[in-house]
Amino acid sequence: MSENNSKNTAQNYRNETAGKSLFLGLVVITSLFLALFLISLWVIPYVGFNAIHPWAKWIAAVLVGAALIVVIWASLGLLLKSTTGKNLPLFNKMRGITVRLFLPIMTLIGRMFGISKNKVRSSFIQVNNDLVLSEADTYRPEDILMLMPHCLQNSRCKIRLTYNVRNCKRCGKCNIADLLDLSDRYNIHLAVATGGTIARRIVVERRPRIILAVACQRDLASGIQDTYPLPVYGILNLRPHGPCLDTLVPIDKLEAAIRRFLDRRYYPDQGGLCTDEGDAQAQT
Ligand code: SF4
Repeated sequence: MSENNSKNTAQNYRNETAGKSLFLGLVVITSLFLALFLISLWVIPYVGFNAIHPWAKWIAAVLVGAALIVVIWASLGLLLKSTTGKNLPLFNKMRGITVRLFLPIMTLIGRMFGISKNKVRSSFIQVNNDLVLSEADTYRPEDILMLMPHCLQNSRCKIRLTYNVRNCKRCGKCNIADLLDLSDRYNIHLAVATGGTIARRIVVERRPRIILAVACQRDLASGIQDTYPLPVYGILNLRPHGPCLDTLVPIDKLEAAIRRFLDRRYYPDQGGLCTDEGDAQAQT
């Protein structure tokens, strides 16, 4: 790859990614919008409430106040959880609120401010990862699934990997060989999916307790939403040749994630307990 290409790729990657502060900033802006909207629900009809009943305006005020408290509490809960890992009372399910409520609204608000979907998604993925890190336990190898996109495979390689990634000859022309090495070393199942439907099927069949997924912003964000409440730790792939072609996995980041979520008793460098996973994988 030429030096110019490398620079362009690095520039494109920077343009497409964003830190978690973007997502958290959008959470605050959204909360302000929601708060203003809710306040207006009370202020606008205020003049007419007296004609209905003398208490009507106060009942409406209590309802609006309660909704305001929920919105503000949820935003504060997410900010606190994401920055310190601590829970606010009554909001220990922050990942669900983030995945189900905040991401769709953030994407809309981001569009209003001219922020690309991919920037919002990459910021969301970082917040999601923080929440997964703060909530997730450590697991046995068979409870972890490494889920990879098909675009990692060298585009000239004719071997079919979708149903059996172990068909790979490990020639080293793409990261599939490195991933198989990781899979062997840690006894963790590796799967390659050509799309969302196959990915869902793999998850249903394997029934993991946590997924380490590598993909682009769009696929990671939709995968995290699709599989909720199953925790997904997302790692962005690298795209030196553009989207969906000969993409790369940051292997060091993936291995660091494995070592964070794998029960230490199964570390290969600490002896590692014997599991049946390696044998089972060799047969699938
Ligand atoms: S490492 Fe495996 S998947 Fe990649 S090009 Fe070689 S044989 Fe094909």
